[in-house]
Amino acid sequence: MAADEFVVNCSKKRRVEEPEFPTNRCVICGAQFSAKNPATTPDQTKLQSLLTACSERKDEVGLILLAKQSSILDGSVTIRHHRHCRSTYTSKLHLKRNAD
Ligand SMILES: [Zn+2]
Repeated sequence: MAADEFVVNCSKKRRVEEPEFPTNRCVICGAQFSAKNPATTPDQTKLQSLLTACSERKDEVGLILLAKQSSILDGSVTIRHHRHCRSTYTSKLHLKRNAD
């Protein structure tokens, strides 16, 4: 029966690989994208600065992204976020650095 196959395939996939990032939600704030707050896919330069911020902050978001860092950088995992979330996430880091 097809339903059995479906269950087997799902559990098999989950065992091999952790769930990917949902593409309809921001990886930083977790909210869904909307017309007012559309999704942005970072380019390599922005990814690097985002991941740098992740490794400095080591918060929940940072650790999740760092766990997938290599896949994100080689393009096998695509992350999407709100534009303002990335700038907030990375700019707080800059403020902290300047204060130090
Ligand atoms: Zn967001």
